[in-house]
Amino acid sequence: MDHEREAAEAEPPSSGAALARPVFPTTVKERERTAAFPQSERARAFRRRHFPQASAEDWNDWRWQLRQRIRDLAGLERIFRLSADEREAVARQTGPLPVGITPYYASLFSDVDASQPLRRTHIPVGDEYLRMPGESDDPLGEDHDAAVPGLVHRYPDRVLFLTTGFCSTYCRYCTRSRMVGGGGEYTFNLAQWQRAIDYIAAHPQIRDVLLSGGDPLTIATDKLEWLLSRLRAIKHVEFLRIGTKVPLVLPQRVTRDLVRMLRRYHPLWMSLHVTHPDELTPEVAESTARLADAGIPLGSQTVLLRGINDDIDTMRRMMHALLKLRVKPYYLYQCDPITGSSHFRTPVETGLAIIRGLRGHTTGYAVPHFVIDAPGGGGKVPLLPDYVVGRDGDDLLLRNFEGQLYRYHDPALTCASA
Ligand code: SF4
Repeated sequence: MDHEREAAEAEPPSSGAALARPVFPTTVKERERTAAFPQSERARAFRRRHFPQASAEDWNDWRWQLRQRIRDLAGLERIFRLSADEREAVARQTGPLPVGITPYYASLFSDVDASQPLRRTHIPVGDEYLRMPGESDDPLGEDHDAAVPGLVHRYPDRVLFLTTGFCSTYCRYCTRSRMVGGGGEYTFNLAQWQRAIDYIAAHPQIRDVLLSGGDPLTIATDKLEWLLSRLRAIKHVEFLRIGTKVPLVLPQRVTRDLVRMLRRYHPLWMSLHVTHPDELTPEVAESTARLADAGIPLGSQTVLLRGINDDIDTMRRMMHALLKLRVKPYYLYQCDPITGSSHFRTPVETGLAIIRGLRGHTTGYAVPHFVIDAPGGGGKVPLLPDYVVGRDGDDLLLRNFEGQLYRYHDPALTCASA
């Protein structure tokens, strides 16, 4: 399998000189910068064991990481001792949401323990083939709200721009599993980008564009710049955002060249898809530091996953570690009812208990918003534990983080209705 060709083809095709593919890395300086990316002891040991031909420089080259992704049963079995369930599930896999794991990210997985949290998020198991009531391939109704192909216009002042169907790794609970990894009916190309740009230009109420996918940071730097520059040229677009998992699963992609390009398009914010504290390695400290140093405000988005991050201690450790990396915990999502995801989903009460365990017990900045993305396109609905107990005359009855009751004199309701 020609992984480089496959990775390149997954990006929107070039059209004209403005989108020519860069050669990477070519100059001595560029190679020095690539080699300078930190490599943890764990990653080094993994490389020597499983990729003995690869140099440190290869390992730190994000295109090498993409070319060497683990994508099939043979690739997995070369590294991991698979359970019978995993082996069968991988053998059955066809269509969208293929297996895809960068060597770097695989180095964080247990090679023997199929229950290890990160490993569970990326190696399929048989439960993935169960279809439970309430699940669907497009639970958020994004296709219904698409103004033009690849552009979801649900909220009045902002749009979701689906830039590519390619990701460096494929999460088994992906809300967009219908469209990522190829094999489906969705296509992403320059003509489609242009139609989306034209739509945004024709709608002055759109002030905020969120680029997502797939993962926009897998797009070649010059193509991504082409898109950002076209969006930035639209006067009423005030604010650009990128949703990505790349800084966590392919941190080497956050090259100084990429960051230099991104900082030209401020105000540009970034939402990082973070799953577990095990992801927060020295490499990720470097990728997030580069982005933060470029003035890009960073927020995290986490899907609540059963047996993976659904306890207070794991969440607290993760939120504290994120703050140290200058990433503000932003959203904690109830796992969407995507087809085949029931083994990942927790009761809603689990998320509420986590918020109860964080709010008041630690820094307010460390507490994300817990939300359900309402099925069918209802948008994000925030969920809070019951801190307001009720009213007693002019008093509002409140429960604090320690469970104690307090009164707040609040006659406003009575006055207003008098
Ligand atoms: S990185 Fe995001 S879009 Fe890609 S597979 Fe994971 S959840 Fe889906």
